Amino acid sequence: MNNSVFLFDVPQNEPVLEYGPGSAERESLQAELARQAAMEVEIPLVIAGEEVRTGRTRPVVMPCDHGHVLARCHLAGEAEVRRAAEAAVEAHEAWSTLSWIERASILMKAAELLSKPHRHRIVAATMLGQGKSVHQAEIDAACETIDYLRYNVYFASQIYAGQPRSTLEQLNRMEYRPLEGFVFTVSPFNFTAIASNLNLAVALMGNTTVWKPATTSLLSNYYLMQLLMEAGMPPGVVNFVPGQGSVVGGAALAHPMLAGIHFTGSNATFNQLWRSVAANLTSYRSYPRVVGETGGKDFIFAHASADPLAVAAAMVRGGFEYQGQKCSAASRAYIPASLWPATRRALVDMLGRVRVGDVRDFGNFMNAVIDEPAFDGIMGYIEQARASADARILFGGSGDKSSGFYIQPTVIETTDPHFITMEEEIFGPVLTVFVYEDARYLDALRLCDATSPYALTGAVFCRDRYAFVEACRVLRYAAGNFYINDKPTGAMVGLQPFGGARASGTNDKAGGPLNLLRWISPRTIKETFLPATAFEYPFMA
Ligand code: NAD
Repeated sequence: MNNSVFLFDVPQNEPVLEYGPGSAERESLQAELARQAAMEVEIPLVIAGEEVRTGRTRPVVMPCDHGHVLARCHLAGEAEVRRAAEAAVEAHEAWSTLSWIERASILMKAAELLSKPHRHRIVAATMLGQGKSVHQAEIDAACETIDYLRYNVYFASQIYAGQPRSTLEQLNRMEYRPLEGFVFTVSPFNFTAIASNLNLAVALMGNTTVWKPATTSLLSNYYLMQLLMEAGMPPGVVNFVPGQGSVVGGAALAHPMLAGIHFTGSNATFNQLWRSVAANLTSYRSYPRVVGETGGKDFIFAHASADPLAVAAAMVRGGFEYQGQKCSAASRAYIPASLWPATRRALVDMLGRVRVGDVRDFGNFMNAVIDEPAFDGIMGYIEQARASADARILFGGSGDKSSGFYIQPTVIETTDPHFITMEEEIFGPVLTVFVYEDARYLDALRLCDATSPYALTGAVFCRDRYAFVEACRVLRYAAGNFYINDKPTGAMVGLQPFGGARASGTNDKAGGPLNLLRWISPRTIKETFLPATAFEYPFMA
């Protein structure tokens, strides 16, 4: 069995269910939403396969109805984090020496469980707990999560098949060892798929993890942990330790067997993790691999040759789906003066038809933002625009947090290309537009490139091929995922591997083979058939 060579075909991306009126999937999901809304789940830690209850809990609420408690989650202290790290180190020996196909089998079973019996459970938990519409939850918690699992098995099969050349005198081999130690995985609230992939890309390559989920995505993340156990993940391979960031991070990063960090979240948190690693550097056995995907200030840039309807539709979908809480969400737009009147009309018309409300009403395009600090922060930016002489609110601008954290889609028009909402990540439903003079296309491109420290995603709209080539050249480093005549969100696993550079992260491209390479430390083995028995060389005669 172990001498088999496994190669997998390129998988198909998981089909997206539509949940149209009268469909069986809609009925079943609605029943699951009602079931989950009617119960209160107790979420323990999971360390070495055992449930751990610390008695220190926090409520898990619905962003759309923040008085509604979905679950109570136990929180880890330093002692539990240390236990989780020890469990991961202990599980490493058996897991890392297991034939990789056994690990792949567990991931493929997890994908099947999620595609079929667990689908609606995790989609519903992502809707209720993270405030996602049915479509946004389906493409994240079901499709993207499944795609990561299946594609990574395919990518791993390609990596493991690669071997160095041998000759008649020697046999050369590459052993794709996992890292020595455990990997600390830290996930953001906004994608269930990312939480899954941060752990499972790493585990597939033979590593074990200590997982710190975000405190605002605990219900779906716990169901994911349960699914992994059902798929046969052995104890200690993935250890689930919810808790306060600084507590969990402090204990995990102090452990000498920290072999890597797989992070997605804000730039500020990533910088803090990196600084802690640097401060502890001499105490680690190896140099930890530090992989992080962070924030964005993603742009839509239109040329005068663009179709204004296409630009407006991309602004609405790219800027406001999931309330702008995607790292890739369009949050600044550069529109030429000649195109602005038609684009503005279409934009205002489309936004006038957007409904904001509870995720359980499928007619709502937008829902609530994640929590009160997010609500207050986003409204703070809107108020700055309202008070400024350099900006005006073209659409929206209001919010209401009395029952859920609702903010209307908001478009700001500014005459200052460096206005604060053109530069800082807001992570909410706010899109700022700067109108440039048509003749200053090149200057506007340079401005776009130099305005923000981030470089995650960006979209250029144009029908003029020369203008497009110029945009590609000037904006070469402005985005790791660059779109032409499409919105800057919605990257798909296997099709558009994802990540950006500058302040947006280490650009290790989740959803492609490059990410998997970060989780191995290869050993090259050379075997010589007839070793030399004398030290002299012919030139010495
Ligand atoms: P966040 O940085 O607030 O939190 C991310 C995670 O870090 C959470 O689990 C949090 O609890 C944890 N954390 C916070 N302080 C910590 C510490 N000292 N030690 C260890 N862990 C700590 O981010 P968020 O609000 O959950 O997510 C939004 C951010 O994520 C945005 O900036 C967004 O752009 C970014 N994001 C980026 C990508 C990408 O692929 N580039 C994808 C999704 C989200």
